[in-house]
Amino acid sequence: MKSNEELVKKMVNSGVLKTESIIRAFNKVDRKNFCMKEHEELAYVDNPLPILAGQTISQPTTVAIMTEAISPSKGDRVLEIGTGSGYQAAIISEIIKPGKVYTIERVGELVKFAKNNLKKYNNVEVIYKDGSEGLEEKSPFDCIIITAGAPKIPKVLIKQLNVNGRMILPVGENNYNQKMKLIINKKDGFEEIDLGNFAFVPLIGKHGFQK
Ligand code: SAH
Repeated sequence: MKSNEELVKKMVNSGVLKTESIIRAFNKVDRKNFCMKEHEELAYVDNPLPILAGQTISQPTTVAIMTEAISPSKGDRVLEIGTGSGYQAAIISEIIKPGKVYTIERVGELVKFAKNNLKKYNNVEVIYKDGSEGLEEKSPFDCIIITAGAPKIPKVLIKQLNVNGRMILPVGENNYNQKMKLIINKKDGFEEIDLGNFAFVPLIGKHGFQK
């Protein structure tokens, strides 16, 4: 694929991109601007790519599935855990503006990389800390998206969701082999929906894997 437009078309045709506001965001955010310079020619291939510190920018189809599943809408407050390149945060920022995205990253050099990639997105705040505890002081959130694999569902994060808020995360005891879970926070408990197998780098921290 030679252009961002072609990549988006492919994801619309395969059925992973469905919602108009989400398709618009994927067209607006050029994935090339979130890849390393040396991988620019692979930016529009539907694959994950290495970034810094042994981490990856997720596969576009995975970003599409997770974004559609939490159905963000205009004005929402969203928390992302695992900023990486900032690509997922940029997509959500376009959908929810004038709402706000808080995105947390634990690796310093990635915080710097993402901040630079996200310069023009003024409704995104990149925060440098262990995100596995969430961001209680800015809660409640309409959506929480965790882009690293957790050993189990961190219950502390469900408490930071609004009623009817949605959280999505890959869960599994083994690295790079997780089940994608969509959690919906209901008044009287939470609903858990299984979206199939995925492969993510591990969530490392207090409510993740130990270092
Ligand atoms: N969403 C990213 C891809 C993330 S890769 C993108 O669009 O490019 C997963 C990221 O989660 C890595 O950058 C990793 O450093 C980060 N991470 C892992 N554990 C974390 C934690 N406890 N808090 C914050 N970030 C974490």
